[in-house]
Amino acid sequence: MHIVVTIKQVPDTSEVRIDPKTNTMVRGGVPSIVNPDDTHAIEEAIRLKERHGGRVTVLSMGPPQAIAALKEAISYGADEAVLCSDRGFAAADTLATSYVLWAAIRRLDEEEPVDLVIAGKQAIDGDTGQVPPGIATRLGWPQLTYVRRIVEFDLAGRRIRVERMADGGIEVLEARLPAVLTVGREINEPRYASLPNMLRAARYQPRIWDRKTLELDETKIGLRGSPTIVSKVWAPPRRQRPPVIMLSNGDRDPDAVAADLLDRLIADGAFDWAPTPAPAAE
Ligand SMILES: Cc1cc2nc3c(=O)[nH]c(=O)nc-3n(C[C@H](O)[C@H](O)[C@H](O)COP(=O)(O)OP(=O)(O)OC[C@H]3O[C@@H](n4cnc5c(N)ncnc54)[C@H](O)[C@@H]3O)c2cc1C
Repeated sequence: MHIVVTIKQVPDTSEVRIDPKTNTMVRGGVPSIVNPDDTHAIEEAIRLKERHGGRVTVLSMGPPQAIAALKEAISYGADEAVLCSDRGFAAADTLATSYVLWAAIRRLDEEEPVDLVIAGKQAIDGDTGQVPPGIATRLGWPQLTYVRRIVEFDLAGRRIRVERMADGGIEVLEARLPAVLTVGREINEPRYASLPNMLRAARYQPRIWDRKTLELDETKIGLRGSPTIVSKVWAPPRRQRPPVIMLSNGDRDPDAVAADLLDRLIADGAFDWAPTPAPAAE
């Protein structure tokens, strides 16, 4: 069995800043992590490997720094890693990204047939959720998105059955293999890296594939292959935490609390009229 897990190295979002002039993310000096959903994709692949044998290849497209993310995946138990990296891949939108990853999966499939691709359901920076469906469409394989549980994985019968999170309920879906799955934190609890795997990861060097290795069409990669235009990007202003008005400890008169609440709402401009003050008690 051969599972490919796509992983993206992303900036730690709590520290993301947007350059207001260029409308791009300021990546310099920002710590990078493996996209959180992808850690669950790695874990699910390793669990399947433990049950059915075979191997797990992790795949990423990104700059050379993304090697760190691939090494991290090796430390969790992935067997092999491939980085698609080339200056020509820069400024890729989701269409161009899925093209490169598709070409790499096709090549991995030629080396050893791929039974399953597992991806995160969403990247915390780009946040589109478009790349895995793009890969599945290009491969012509079924796509099972937002999977919260693999119910049955029948390698011999070439079928997979999953529970998928849908609006207002759970769908049980069955598809033929090979297929593309997307998963998030609901599916499992990722393990910690083991010491032997950490030692292996420290020495491990992923294979690096560029546009020549993958024999790519120059018009479909990078900026040239990206029809999406980002006209403006901005970070929403931080919302201030609203004041807390204590009602529960019983040591305040409810009328005083209500009057306090009304004063605050008026001061915050919640009304476009001013309530008439109550007549003073005689
Ligand atoms: C015009 C334009 C220019 C851009 N220029 C750049 C740029 O120069 N540099 C840059 O880093 N980004 C750039 N981006 C963002 C880039 O297109 C997206 O980050 C990328 O296509 C992935 O989309 P996403 O983040 O929405 O991933 P999603 O579709 O939300 O990701 C879902 C899953 O797909 C897989 N996946 C996604 N991306 C990758 C990847 N690269 N490698 C492996 N697996 C992946 C992961 O499993 C991930 O969990 C640009 C976007 C646009 C529109």
